[in-house]
Amino acid sequence: MPDPLSPAELRALDRAHVWHPYGPMPGRQEPLVVESASGVRLRLAEPAHGRRELVDGMSSWWSAVHGYNHPVLNEAARGQLDRMSHVMFGGLTHEPAVRLATRLVEITPEPLRHVFLADSGSVSVEVAVKMCLQYWRSAGRPAKQRLLTWRGGYHGDTWQPMSVCDPEGGMHELWSGSLPRQVFADAPPDGFDAEPDDAYARHLRELVAAHADELAAVIVEPVVQGAGGMRFHSPAYLRVLREACDANDVLLVFDEIATGFGRTGQLFAAGHAGVSPDVMCVGKALTGGYLTLAATLCTSRVAEGISSGDVPVLAHGPTFMGNPLAAAVACASVDLLLGQDWELEVKRIGTGLREGLAKAAGLPGVRDVRVLGAIGVVQLDHDVDMEAATRAAVREGVWLRPFRDLVYTMPPYVTGDDDVARICRAVCAAAKEG
Ligand SMILES: *Cc1c(COP(=O)(O)O)cnc(C)c1O
Repeated sequence: MPDPLSPAELRALDRAHVWHPYGPMPGRQEPLVVESASGVRLRLAEPAHGRRELVDGMSSWWSAVHGYNHPVLNEAARGQLDRMSHVMFGGLTHEPAVRLATRLVEITPEPLRHVFLADSGSVSVEVAVKMCLQYWRSAGRPAKQRLLTWRGGYHGDTWQPMSVCDPEGGMHELWSGSLPRQVFADAPPDGFDAEPDDAYARHLRELVAAHADELAAVIVEPVVQGAGGMRFHSPAYLRVLREACDANDVLLVFDEIATGFGRTGQLFAAGHAGVSPDVMCVGKALTGGYLTLAATLCTSRVAEGISSGDVPVLAHGPTFMGNPLAAAVACASVDLLLGQDWELEVKRIGTGLREGLAKAAGLPGVRDVRVLGAIGVVQLDHDVDMEAATRAAVREGVWLRPFRDLVYTMPPYVTGDDDVARICRAVCAAAKEG
């Protein structure tokens, strides 16, 4: 082993060589150096604002639902490591991938039946789009190539996903001239519990019908729009989309990469609406935050349509497709989730967030406070000062990563009540000082 680098050396080399998400080069904000993580706590290599340990309010972007360094997930990784970390998936298969795919088919809505394992959420969305376009091509309707979505969404950072991210205020505006031009509906009206708006439902129906001849699919995040603005909407609109898609020969894709695995209070957010998509993407919490892995599921109708066309294969095959290490940990993570009363834990955290964030509602500069499942959001009336907000949260002993006008949290499901309360204090402090 080489000599360990000091935190100062790490920071200097990081600054010189390493890109961070949505960052400039060299970086302007000093990242905190994490030495290890266990349970819901990140351990820093050196104290920041008097704290050496931070409670993770972000689950590493929705993924670490069981917390860090979990003995069961560690064991799954170690066991698989001793057998094989990776083997190519072309012409070969293995138990972790087969077991994971079968498990995903069992727990996702009927009639999703077939699974494409991809290496990240964005790639799983690319695959979903390719499936839909190829389905219509095989059906002799090659003009059906465009996608419809509603504003305010986020589907990833590669090309097709970028084209269905919110076209304004989002992070991909820059590319609007060179992205495929998709069809955008207005953003869904706010409020999970809000009475569905008939005029909006009509708007969705009319737009799908008007573009039916050129639409391959409608793609949305069900119930919660994540990185596009942390907005919640009524599940009723998902039923409207399902009906409009069926009536107009358009496929329906649900991007459950953020919402999947219990986060919104249902195992998948589609469950709030009782609606099944034709294609569905999962990722983020799939491996409990251990390794990068995502999956695109589709129905037999879609699979058979593609496979009976003049190019009867799905031409996609990442080098690390079906990675055994990731698949083994994913199997263990799904079993761990379903082996406990996750619904109760999500509800408990939601109750804690509702209580703890109620105080934020009275703060100056706060526009809205909302909670759904184990997601808590404080929306400001101005863009957050990242540095000030991060500092305020770290002082409270919590890791948060606000963006735009949003200070938000989606804690690991294993977060105890005291730590949920601490996270809420940090969100309030960040909202106040940011
Ligand atoms: C994070 C996210 C993605 C992209 O996933 P990556 O693994 O970051 O590529 C796509 N869709 C949604 C809804 C997401 O939250």
